[in-house]
Amino acid sequence: MKRYVIALDQGTTSSRAILFDKQQRIVAMSQREIRQFYPQPGWVEQDAGEIFDTQYKVMMEAMAAAGAAPKDIAAIGITNQRETTVLWERDTGRPVYSAIGWQCRRTADICRAAEEAGMAPLIQDKTGLVIDAYFSATKVKWLLENIDGLKSRAERGEVLFGTVDSYLIYRLCGGLHVTDYTNASRTMLYNIGELEWDDSLLDYFGIPRAMLPRVVPSLGVVGQARIQGLDIPVAGIAGDQQSALFGHGCTRMGQAKNTYGTGCFLLMNTGERRYNSQSGLITTLAIGEGTKPHYALEGSIFSGGSVIQWLRDELGLIRAAEDSEYFAAKVPDNAGVYLVPAFTGLGAPYWDMSARGMLVGLSRGSGRNHIIRAALESIAYQTHDVLEAMTEDTGIPLSVLAVDGGATRNNLLMQFQADITGCPVERPELLETTALGAARLAGLGVGFWQPDDLAAAEGQGRRFIPHIPDEKRKVLLSGWRKAVKSCLMHSESDSGWL
Ligand code: ADP
Repeated sequence: MKRYVIALDQGTTSSRAILFDKQQRIVAMSQREIRQFYPQPGWVEQDAGEIFDTQYKVMMEAMAAAGAAPKDIAAIGITNQRETTVLWERDTGRPVYSAIGWQCRRTADICRAAEEAGMAPLIQDKTGLVIDAYFSATKVKWLLENIDGLKSRAERGEVLFGTVDSYLIYRLCGGLHVTDYTNASRTMLYNIGELEWDDSLLDYFGIPRAMLPRVVPSLGVVGQARIQGLDIPVAGIAGDQQSALFGHGCTRMGQAKNTYGTGCFLLMNTGERRYNSQSGLITTLAIGEGTKPHYALEGSIFSGGSVIQWLRDELGLIRAAEDSEYFAAKVPDNAGVYLVPAFTGLGAPYWDMSARGMLVGLSRGSGRNHIIRAALESIAYQTHDVLEAMTEDTGIPLSVLAVDGGATRNNLLMQFQADITGCPVERPELLETTALGAARLAGLGVGFWQPDDLAAAEGQGRRFIPHIPDEKRKVLLSGWRKAVKSCLMHSESDSGWL
């Protein structure tokens, strides 16, 4: 009798494994930190061997903690940090170089050259992405051009490329070279309209097709992982944000989620319809029904929960992140104080990398609590602006916003989010939404669960209903817009948003 599904959640800072039982309850979890290396300013690398080893260990530890043997596991689901690029030897599975992290900026020049060559419209049309060093394509190009002999080995099919999901599966399943739609859509090489690797982009970046994994649906058995002599099916794969979207049950058009971590990641499922954003959001693949992916619009906010870390570490206004709620609640409103946390520029929909933060609207009576409140509210205002861009792009009004991530523990922030967007915010009971998404994919993939089981098992979350009058919302938003405008006006570059 199979009792559990195991989710492998391979993130930027740690590898985690979580065991879920038939009722989708967490039975055991194990986590190990992984290292990041910064060999030069702006460069980020990881050790793919360490990624695999820690991931394997936490899987075994989680099973041991639950007293489970491989025969008790119905399926493995994998979710992973996206875009991070691994190249390895076909014969041995050994990485040929460090994994290049998604945050790594070493390929900024390659991106600039692609911009100057006028590639942006073509790339957006084919991949849904804006040209950026985040995505895997330029990382692969850099490796092929900078590591001796790699290009010819890759052409002979001796060296393979994959994102982290792909590398884990290669090692777990004895040389199976696959990735799923959601991860493929982050490479800047995958045609999201035709659902194929794009020859013209492979040509442009000089990447041999022989290196690329086969692309499979996110849900369904792709291979068998051999664990202690027994085969366990790998039956779910998804990039972390898409896995969270699925974990929230956002499988239909117009459903959206926001993850409030260090930064925020917003995704809206747009069903089978593909929208190209007019406001700098990207189009990506999400989990659909059956074997066909859905499209999603994605926007990210650079400074989310990190604003609260800033209050704590730089200003010393709070001692712990959760204190922010206590102090912010001591004042009835922001009293006109706004913080625009453009610490590292502003992303969608404003797009100004040289903008820097600003605190505006101070009066003689403004105090610490107002500043703390303004910092919390800034997370909600930025989220509002990305959601507004999504609604403008799609014409789909949002009916509810599903949320997860560390900062969603803050009730005041969640209530304010509902108030300022005028749309209910739904926080699930279980905040491990990313891992749950991968577990659900795998469990559905092997028939451990049926779709109805998932709906029935959703626990007691909390729903925040908007309760401020429209007039008040308008006044608050107009104050925020003025604050963003003044921030952009002081920046060195011209912003389209002004
Ligand atoms: P990540 O996955 O990016 O490391 P997490 O989901 O663990 O992020 O969330 C951590 C972030 O959430 C931190 O930036 C922290 O400041 C913020 N955070 C945690 N608890 C609270 C809280 N009660 N109120 C506001 N922010 C919080």
